[in-house]
Amino acid sequence: MFIDRARITIKAGDGGNGAVSFHREKYVAAGGPDGGDGGRGGDVVFVVDKHLNTLETFRYKKKFLAENGKPGASRRCSGKSGEDLIIRVPEGTVIREVQSGQIMADMSGEEPVVLARGGKGGAGNQHFATSTRQIPRFAKPGVPGESFELQLELKLIADVGLVGFPNVGKSTLISAVSGARPKIANYHFTTLAPVLGVVSYDAESSFVMADIPGLIEGASEGVGLGHDFLRHVERCRLIVHVVDVSGSEGRDPVEDFEKINLELRRFNEELADRPQIVAANKCDLASPEQIGAFRAYVEEQGLPFFTISAAGRQGLQELIDCIAARLATLPPVKTYEADFVRPEVTPGQDRSFQVEVEEGVYYVDAPWLEPIMATINPDDYESLQYFQRVLRESGIIDRLDEMGVQEGDTVDIGGFQFEYIR
Ligand code: GDP
Ligand code: MG
Repeated sequence: MFIDRARITIKAGDGGNGAVSFHREKYVAAGGPDGGDGGRGGDVVFVVDKHLNTLETFRYKKKFLAENGKPGASRRCSGKSGEDLIIRVPEGTVIREVQSGQIMADMSGEEPVVLARGGKGGAGNQHFATSTRQIPRFAKPGVPGESFELQLELKLIADVGLVGFPNVGKSTLISAVSGARPKIANYHFTTLAPVLGVVSYDAESSFVMADIPGLIEGASEGVGLGHDFLRHVERCRLIVHVVDVSGSEGRDPVEDFEKINLELRRFNEELADRPQIVAANKCDLASPEQIGAFRAYVEEQGLPFFTISAAGRQGLQELIDCIAARLATLPPVKTYEADFVRPEVTPGQDRSFQVEVEEGVYYVDAPWLEPIMATINPDDYESLQYFQRVLRESGIIDRLDEMGVQEGDTVDIGGFQFEYIR
């Protein structure tokens, strides 16, 4: 089975918490704060691996986590940063964020792409000493790493895509003109995965050709195999439409040609308008009348027409020359622009909350606040100020105000109760 789609989740590492610690040394009384900072969480990074040609690796493994940052320690020791997680994908993998459907990256270049950013480490208490506050019993928690659900979709990168009915000779053609060796046999759907071949046409120049498994009627609606493979033609700059001109399987070449073009159009309007060259294959089995009739029809459409015999190695050079000349005039392979807009609070850093009043107590439900609360020291002024700031920035204070909270009312956050003070 050829795997060219996958859904996975990625999560970058959380930042490590800052440390609360005080300098200790023999004979030295009450040293200053020396709690180190937490380490940064690792990023999740995607890179292209040219040796891969499917998304097979994602068939069973669906969750990818980068390492968390380590907490800070005493003596101003910073925690170690988490390792980045590198995910290798085949060239041409288009990555979408599932919720928004937006494109996060088109992995068609050399550059690694950071998709989920690791959280910053929290500052240790060494930073919180001031002239008036010499004993900061408080450090900041690390920030959680970003996390996303992703849809990966391989859209092969090739200059030329071969399309046509099953058994018309596409695989034979690519084997004749490139080093690619797909399976060739006289039955339908021999080719179950797209195959790429490099065609060299003079000392310096070459182009990439893709053998796409045979399209059949209804392919664009997901009937049979064809539909799955149409996406691999989407980037091609040029389509070579291979037709069995001899009608050796009892079909009519003109009808074949029109059916395939209809499938392309149904799948993606743009594809139907992609430049096309027609290769009338199996000319060794066709009569001059058959070839003449089909040629007249194709030329009427204004398309370049070549009679070839892929198996008999006839007419191939002319076809290749024409492909190369056409490619020289066409824009480069299509790439997809990333249009993903990072939400202000990314998933994993979701700061939503609910407030309910019951018998004069304001209950705040905010699961994300709990790890932060665990690091708050209620006896420490800095710590409480930080806590206040989090409550204000997340909008919790505004909401309490809207709900009519009064000075002295009780607020409960995850079981921790305190008096509301303005
Ligand atoms: P695909 O399904 O389009 O990839 O077709 P294949 O390349 O697997 O070929 C299907 C069958 O047609 C095989 O038996 C080939 O040997 C045969 N074939 C391919 N090209 C020619 C040709 O030019 N002449 C003849 N007579 N047979 C051919
Ligand atoms: Mg084939």
